[in-house]
Amino acid sequence: MTKTADFLIIGGGVAGLSVGARLAQHGKVVLIEAEDAVGYHSSGRSVTFSHFGIGGATVRALTAYSRAFFQSPPDGFDALAAVRPALFIANQAMLPALDELERITRAHADAVERLDAQAAAHYCPALRWAPDAVVAAFVHREGLKLDPHALLQGFARTIRAAGGEVVTGARAVAIGPRWRVQAESGETYEAPVLVNAAGAWADRVAEMAGVRPLGLTPLRRTIIVFDPPAEMDVRDWPFVKTAVDYMYMMPDSGRLLASPVDENPDDPGDAQPDELDMAVAAHRVSEFTTLEVRRITHRWAGLRTFAADRVPVAGYAPDADGFFWLAGQGGYGLQTAPAMAEIAEALALGAAWPDALAAAGLVPEQIRPERLPAFST
Ligand SMILES: Cc1cc2nc3c(=O)[nH]c(=O)nc-3n(C[C@H](O)[C@H](O)[C@H](O)COP(=O)(O)OP(=O)(O)OC[C@H]3O[C@@H](n4cnc5c(N)ncnc54)[C@H](O)[C@@H]3O)c2cc1C
Repeated sequence: MTKTADFLIIGGGVAGLSVGARLAQHGKVVLIEAEDAVGYHSSGRSVTFSHFGIGGATVRALTAYSRAFFQSPPDGFDALAAVRPALFIANQAMLPALDELERITRAHADAVERLDAQAAAHYCPALRWAPDAVVAAFVHREGLKLDPHALLQGFARTIRAAGGEVVTGARAVAIGPRWRVQAESGETYEAPVLVNAAGAWADRVAEMAGVRPLGLTPLRRTIIVFDPPAEMDVRDWPFVKTAVDYMYMMPDSGRLLASPVDENPDDPGDAQPDELDMAVAAHRVSEFTTLEVRRITHRWAGLRTFAADRVPVAGYAPDADGFFWLAGQGGYGLQTAPAMAEIAEALALGAAWPDALAAAGLVPEQIRPERLPAFST
């Protein structure tokens, strides 16, 4: 049987679901997801913290723009965010990076404060404040811990409420012209607009469709979870990150999670943590804190998929009518999703660029695929 739609979306992660919720207001949306549930890959493996200590200027503008959505979600969404401080730390070598990050964060946020050792201990008593460890810190008191389940389910509900469909267990295995998609299950789907929101697989989906790939790179990131000392109640601790990409740590249901902020190239797939990356995470926790990772209770890895300039991509493929890219969300796909979905909606419909996006310093040329080296020849 063939199912027809105005917009056919491949990928049930945050990218596909968020743009689906917007496009469903303009026509029939059908979203197909290979796995048996949405959010199985990167979107379900994120630590879902929104902060300004990641990405370049465009990503920070997308992050800032998206905050309003998280703090005052539209109808159909449960609460999406809890305010939680983001504490950035530096050793001597990281000091210039900390100063620069503080300057950048202040440009986007008010609640930013430089901290001495005593004030920093108020947020995280386990910091190792020493000449060879933490020598400086600042806090952004209004970081946001996002609820990934509420976010993904809210978008899925919005699609369905507008008459759209989210079909799981439907892996696209062949793509014909304008756009006829064959699923592994035997079902076919047709739409004049095909949105490629396939995360780490997005280039492979393009190749299946005979469209030039963007040159996306999936990079693996590792998380470990461990028990804090029995006498420490960590539930209100902040998100703690070194000023350069070296280590981060955050409370997780009474335990602590940590990452070595690794970026190892990997193939699209069910990413698994590597023993060495887990050991590096544990070591780096002990470098910057008084904590010792005695037993890892839980671990996972996921893929963060980047375009060459590390800015997410939305827009029609220059070489294929009706083939729309929404890819390269890297390590910020959740915290930028509301802005990227609004951008993708405007570009997919060929609508005027929203004033609010322009006021936030965002222009289509930053986001469209044409900017990438894949199209420079
Ligand atoms: C450890 C870790 C920590 C992170 N922390 C944060 C954070 O704190 N804040 C933040 O904003 N971001 C964070 N991220 C990044 C964030 O998770 C990603 O940017 C985001 O999830 C990407 O979403 P996506 O929808 O593009 O990809 P995905 O969630 O991977 O979705 C793509 C979907 O496409 C489906 N698909 C692929 N091929 C096909 C096909 N042929 N047919 C049908 N379906 C197909 C896949 O099954 C998959 O479900 C983190 C990522 C990791 C791994």
